[in-house]
Amino acid sequence: MYFFDPHVHMISRVTDDYERMARMGCVGVSEPAFWAGFDRGSVDGFRDYFRQLTEFEPTRAGWSGVQHYAWLCINAKEAENVELSREVIAMIPEFLDKPGVLGIGEIGLNKNTPNECTIFREHVELAMRTNELILIHTPHLDDKYKGTRMIIDMLLEDDRVDPGRVLIDHVEEHTVGLAREEGFWCAMTLYPVTKCTPSRAADIIEMYGDERIMVNSAGDWGPSNPTAVPDFIMELRRRGHSESKIKKIVYDNPIEFFSGSERFEFTPPDVFRENAPTGVDAG
Ligand SMILES: [Zn+2]
Repeated sequence: MYFFDPHVHMISRVTDDYERMARMGCVGVSEPAFWAGFDRGSVDGFRDYFRQLTEFEPTRAGWSGVQHYAWLCINAKEAENVELSREVIAMIPEFLDKPGVLGIGEIGLNKNTPNECTIFREHVELAMRTNELILIHTPHLDDKYKGTRMIIDMLLEDDRVDPGRVLIDHVEEHTVGLAREEGFWCAMTLYPVTKCTPSRAADIIEMYGDERIMVNSAGDWGPSNPTAVPDFIMELRRRGHSESKIKKIVYDNPIEFFSGSERFEFTPPDVFRENAPTGVDAG
């Protein structure tokens, strides 16, 4: 079955991961901007990062026949540096006309601080001014419910925000309802230990249905599994769900949401593969 991984940090992964994902049916990924594991020192560090996300990474993905899309922002973990965050937000429009850029993300909260809220609102302001989709990161563990509530309240206080153009990520059993009640899209992250496992994600689908919901691996530089979406597919098959229902969650839904961006030009996978570039030696 073809699938799309709508949230995976491929710059942290090796080319062999693209190859493995492609062999399991991955035809597309979307990669939100995130924290590098250290705070970047200047706006130029972000400019180079955005070039990597929008120039080289789509090429590298293409070697395996995978179509690559990106989201841009400064991560909530770096929002305490308000001055740098504002410089980055002012620089993002340089990249908003690049092919494959889907919008602003992953923005959100980490420790639910006032500075994080300020920078979150300024990202939303940019997205509204430029008519971009938004991808939201919700906090981990204890802060998740409170942070998700705060994020949704900040979004709803701005009447320009259309919940149908916002994806709230890393939802779990206690936050999926919050997102869905207000009409947002949501996604479950399949992590080996924290966040959702494939079986918990399958339980959530059985409780909440398959509308406006998707799953991702969020594969990154930490312990994570970029082939977690196929594990979820197998879990739903084991439970006897139809192929069309599974395909809706792992393929149709991401494509429907991303189609809200005019730069989402998705080529039919077989056509894309026939024309995909071949790899080069890295050195
Ligand atoms: Zn992420």
